Amino acid sequence: MGKVMIIGCGGVASVAIHKCCQNSDVFTELCIASRTVSKCDALKEKLQPHTKTKITTAQVDANDVDALIRLIEKEKPEVVLNLALPYQDLTIMDACLATKVHYVDTANYEPEDTAKFEYKWQWDYRERYEKAGITALLGSGFDPGVTSVFSAYALKHYFDEINYIDILDCNAGDHGYPFATNFNPEINIREVSAKGSYWEDGHWVETEPMEIKRVYNFPEIGEKDMYLLHHEEIESLALNIPGIKRIRFFMTFGQSYLTHLKCLENVGMTSIEPIMFEGKEIVPLQFLKAVLPDPSSLGPRTKGKTNIGCIFIGKKDGKEKTLYIYNTCDHQECYKEVGSQAVAYTTGVPAMIGAMMVLTGTWRKPGVYNMEEFDPDPFMDALNKWGLPWKISEHPDLVD
Ligand code: NDP
Repeated sequence: MGKVMIIGCGGVASVAIHKCCQNSDVFTELCIASRTVSKCDALKEKLQPHTKTKITTAQVDANDVDALIRLIEKEKPEVVLNLALPYQDLTIMDACLATKVHYVDTANYEPEDTAKFEYKWQWDYRERYEKAGITALLGSGFDPGVTSVFSAYALKHYFDEINYIDILDCNAGDHGYPFATNFNPEINIREVSAKGSYWEDGHWVETEPMEIKRVYNFPEIGEKDMYLLHHEEIESLALNIPGIKRIRFFMTFGQSYLTHLKCLENVGMTSIEPIMFEGKEIVPLQFLKAVLPDPSSLGPRTKGKTNIGCIFIGKKDGKEKTLYIYNTCDHQECYKEVGSQAVAYTTGVPAMIGAMMVLTGTWRKPGVYNMEEFDPDPFMDALNKWGLPWKISEHPDLVD
């Protein structure tokens, strides 16, 4: 079918690359390009003997638009899948625009010096992408990503209108460390130490970090504490789901994680303000990242399951209706299959599927789009096929 360039070679990219190589009829060629080329080469060496996908590797600094353009012109991919960090979204979008190549990512842009993510910057590219005749697909991970596809699927098949969405992200995995993050620590800590917010009656309601707590009995896992966070898919779902009154996002955290995070915050270790240390400027959060366990090393030690899904309340034929669509994923099974824990797996699989949707032309229209703006059915089928089967419950417990 065609060639994709994956930028970044960390936890999420590693899973997406494994999955592209399993799907070699679609991904006939793959270029893995990242800052540290040795990681790309190591993955190529591991996977090439077992796949028909032809793999090449390259070194690139994704902050450098000219370097990206040169690489894209040389490699000639049809789609670029951005699995570097949110800071690189705009430079990679610029390079795709200059070379007229489709763009897919999993996380929205965030300036490095302000911990505030929103779609504004990327939505600003809409007209330019339309004119260039190329597609940008934003947020093709699990949340955002699959949660938006679940929403579009619920609306298409089960509801006349959806009024309430609660997105629940539960990670019941235990890695045995007192404190570690399951994906990039810098991005993760910026997200969870920010103020919370939810969408209600047409506007944002802001909360203090971790102010709103609920307990939920997750299928296949059991009762867990979960906390309301701001999350990026709320912003696009609020625009794209007609009749919506409220959208909230909850994530589970254990007491040990929260106690450590509070302590690190209190001593200033989560700050993104640079400080001088022994004559050199350092960012405390980046230093903290360097001393924490590398998320990619958690795979062998993490046991337990994840459960991520959405509870919908709305109307069908004039009657109130509820629906819960969710996926559960087992950390050890993911590790056996691709050598990564379930948090990277649940993001890397939808990233591969998003790239496949665009590469095959199943989801392609000039402009910049969020996941819920396309037909959910082929994506939902692909989730079942490629390792993230979903379940539906029509009578779930609700969150008050
Ligand atoms: P990692 O830190 O493990 O990997 C990031 C990769 O990007 C590394 O290989 C890194 O290179 C590379 N990189 C960083 N800066 C540059 C640069 N300037 N030029 C080239 N390459 C660069 O992160 P994760 O794999 O955990 O996360 C990847 C993305 O997935 C993030 O954007 C994250 O927010 C997103 N995500 C989305 C989720 C969802 O459900 N939607 C859930 C989890 C994550 P090096 O090896 O040199 O460090």
